Amino acid sequence: MSAAEEPAAGPPAGPLAVGVDIGGTKVAGGVVDVVGGVLTRGRRMTPFRDPALVEGTIVEVVEELRARHDVVAVGIGAAGFVDASRSRVLFAPHLAWRDEPLREAVAATVGLPVVVENDANAAAWAEWRFGAGRGESDLVMVTLGTGIGGGIVLDGVVQRGRHGIAGEFGHMVVVPDGHRCECGNRGCLEQYASGNVLGREAQELARAGSPVAVSLLERVGGKVEALVGPVVTEAAQDGDACAIELFEDVGRWLGVGLANLAAALDPGLFVIGGGVSDAGELLLGPARESFRRTLTGRGDRPEGRGGPAPGRRSKNCCARTKPSTRAA
Ligand SMILES: [Zn+2]
Repeated sequence: MSAAEEPAAGPPAGPLAVGVDIGGTKVAGGVVDVVGGVLTRGRRMTPFRDPALVEGTIVEVVEELRARHDVVAVGIGAAGFVDASRSRVLFAPHLAWRDEPLREAVAATVGLPVVVENDANAAAWAEWRFGAGRGESDLVMVTLGTGIGGGIVLDGVVQRGRHGIAGEFGHMVVVPDGHRCECGNRGCLEQYASGNVLGREAQELARAGSPVAVSLLERVGGKVEALVGPVVTEAAQDGDACAIELFEDVGRWLGVGLANLAAALDPGLFVIGGGVSDAGELLLGPARESFRRTLTGRGDRPEGRGGPAPGRRSKNCCARTKPSTRAA
C-alpha cells in the first residue's frame, strides 16, 4: 500500500479514526477527523474470497495508516449483511464471509475500538453528516454499482432494522416473474436499475446482432463479454445513442424504485451514489420523470425543499434527486 497524504486544509479537528471500506475489489482506508476531513488515504486489492486473508489486509491497512497518525478507533464499512450490534458480518457474497466476527478479530489484533457497518449505511450516514444531505433530517441513500445498496437516515438516525439488515432496496420485487436475481428471486429492482443491467442489456443487443449496438461493440474490439457497466457509462457520456437509451431504461426503473421508497419512508432527499451515478443527468433525468409519474399522492403531497443541499461534493454523491416534483 502506498499511503497518500491529503493536502492539509487546516489542522485536523478532534480525535482521529481510521475508516476502512471493504469492497469486492479493493480495501480502501483513510485517516479521518470529526468534521469529515480525510488526512491520509491508502488502499490494497481485496484478497480473493478468503476471509482470513481479507481480515489480514484490513489490519495491514489500519496499521500502516496509524503509523502516520495517532488514531483512537477504527470504523469498517463492509458490503454485506452486518448484524444489529455492528460486530459480525452475517453474509457477504463477494467476500465469502458467513457469520464472521469481524469486529473482535480486528480489535484483538490492532488493540483499538472497532465498529463494523454495512457500507451503504455508512455512506448514507456520511452524506447526512458531511455531504449532500447536510441539514436534512430524513434522507435515503441509494448506491448504484454492480448491484444496488441502500441506507436510511430518519430524524438523523441510521435505520438498521431489527436484525441490522434494512435498506436492501435492490431486492424489492418490481416485476413478478421477471429477470432471475442472484438472491434467488425473480424481478428484483437490482435486475432493472444497476450497473449489471447496463452490461447485460448491451450484451444482449450485441449478441442479437442489433445495428444499434454496433458502435458499442466497436469500443470493446468486438468482444461482447467486455461490454460491462462502466463501458456503457463512458459511451453514454460520449453521446452514444444506444448507451443513452440503456440509461433511460435504468433511470426509469430507478424512478419507480424511488417512488416506492418515498411511499414507504417519505424522506426529504434521495442521494444517489455508486459508479452508475457518474452518468449524472443521463440517469437522473429519466429517473425524475418516472418518479413524478409513479409517486403516490403526486400533486397533493408536500414537496421537498426548494434548492440543492449545501453539501460538499463527494465521490459517493455525484448526483441527487428529490422526492418532489422539482428538479434538484
Ligand atoms: Zn434479488
